[in-house]
Amino acid sequence: MTNLPPGRTQPRPIWDEYFLKLAMMASERSTCPRMHCGCVLVRNNNVLATGYNGSLPGHPHCEEEGCLVEDNHCIRTNHAEANAISQAAHNGHEVADAIAYITNMSCTNCAKLLIAAGIKRVVVFSDFHDTRATEFYQQSGVKIDKLPMPPLNIDYDLKNFTSAVKTEKSN
Ligand SMILES: [Zn+2]
Ligand SMILES: [Zn+2]
Repeated sequence: MTNLPPGRTQPRPIWDEYFLKLAMMASERSTCPRMHCGCVLVRNNNVLATGYNGSLPGHPHCEEEGCLVEDNHCIRTNHAEANAISQAAHNGHEVADAIAYITNMSCTNCAKLLIAAGIKRVVVFSDFHDTRATEFYQQSGVKIDKLPMPPLNIDYDLKNFTSAVKTEKSN
């Protein structure tokens, strides 16, 4: 990559890439080894809430106690989308007309939840098969944009930021 401004090792991310990357970072907090998902709810380029699939507050984690599998699904965790909607509700943030950035295409239940909450657009980079999510989103007029997975590296080149370099005045 050439002609990047000083301080950059990759191009400045566009908004969609930025929020997908935040969703990926949220997914790092997931505690179910069967799937790590992240969700970021955004309106006017403002983050309203974030979520990842994890246990209820105070409950054991799948990583510690194993998954709680029923009908081939782990039911111990709330999914990322459900936790993001719950966080918004907990904090009193309206999510109508927001965009949901999610790492993986929703399961059917989460799609229904986002649709009912008034989400107008879903941005995702990974498929999650065997669900009716796409069908339900389309029936409800929710726009689905599947984008490439953002780069895994974070462009933070501390050593080359001029303000991070020690000068003679620095202690
Ligand atoms: Zn699990
Ligand atoms: Zn789900």
